[in-house]
Amino acid sequence: MAGNVKDKEAFQRLNFLYQAAHCVLAQTSENVELARFYCFTQKTIAKRLVLRQDPSVKRTLCKKCCSLLVPGVTATARQRRTKHRNRMTVLRCLRCGQCKRFLNNPEHRLWVDQPEAQLENQSQPEQGPSTKELKEKADGSISQLSSTGPSSTQHQVPPSKPKT
Ligand SMILES: [Zn+2]
Repeated sequence: MAGNVKDKEAFQRLNFLYQAAHCVLAQTSENVELARFYCFTQKTIAKRLVLRQDPSVKRTLCKKCCSLLVPGVTATARQRRTKHRNRMTVLRCLRCGQCKRFLNNPEHRLWVDQPEAQLENQSQPEQGPSTKELKEKADGSISQLSSTGPSSTQHQVPPSKPKT
């Protein structure tokens, strides 16, 4: 991963299309197909340039028909109960019927949001810099260690255990 944001213009275009879809849908709910066209274009660009979109964006797009999922307009949001007494939100696309399920667990963290993942992705500027990272840079000593990269100490083979 490069330090600078690659394909900055493409990301700006994705951002524009996503906001435009919200915008036309907010004007009148008859613009469902136009919003879907914007989101379809957005998805096509992201796929062609292999750009990873933020999970919060992906959660509002239908996987099947690329509709923008707005509860009450293009989707229904319902509470369901799973086997293990967990509750989940089911977002159902009104156009194609595809469902998205989200567990109602405020403690849930995506792997990207966990601190272990952040250490490896320190050079990425699109992730908001955590305060911890900034503190380390203020010290000046720890930032040198992180710049060496994780290549050296990845797979340490444990010493073979002696039998008997
Ligand atoms: Zn759909």
